[in-house]
Amino acid sequence: MKKIILHACCAPCASYPIELLTKDNYKPVVFFYNPNIFPFSEYKIRKNELEKYCKKIGVDFYEGNYDIKKFFDFAKEYKNEPEKGTRCSLCFNLRLWRTAEFAKENNIEYFTTTLTVSPHKSSKQIFEQANIISLSSGVQFVNYDFKKHDGFKISRQIARENNMYTQKYCGCLYSIR
Ligand code: SF4
Repeated sequence: MKKIILHACCAPCASYPIELLTKDNYKPVVFFYNPNIFPFSEYKIRKNELEKYCKKIGVDFYEGNYDIKKFFDFAKEYKNEPEKGTRCSLCFNLRLWRTAEFAKENNIEYFTTTLTVSPHKSSKQIFEQANIISLSSGVQFVNYDFKKHDGFKISRQIARENNMYTQKYCGCLYSIR
């Protein structure tokens, strides 16, 4: 099995990608790097829920730093943008850059992200950022569009079966409204 770093934003969104990657002969290593999540109490809830689920199913879990300043440094300029705008592109870029670096540090050749599960996000926009990062870092991005084939529906079903916490907003301060 080929190891792959799976950047994951929360437990419900990670559930189906873990199943699919495993079926496709990858060994996912979950990496939680989401300094966009606000407030910190919400960050902790999402992190703990995912860590607990990974432990339950026997998948390796790692947490990145909560670099909230790095997020606000660029995001505040775009605070009034709607979702799918520039703020979101930069947010994907921040999270996926660190994911590719983490893969490199651990000699893992591939990375991907759970972000494409959500029907509220544009997979094309995520792939654009991921492919730029892949070219510059030399870590191969595997472009799974996890929302395809009912991916979102399946992920919510697994979340319900496991009584997972499911958030009501994307993550950053500006998405709470
Ligand atoms: S809405 Fe979501 S993807 Fe966009 S900047 Fe906020 S947390 Fe990031």
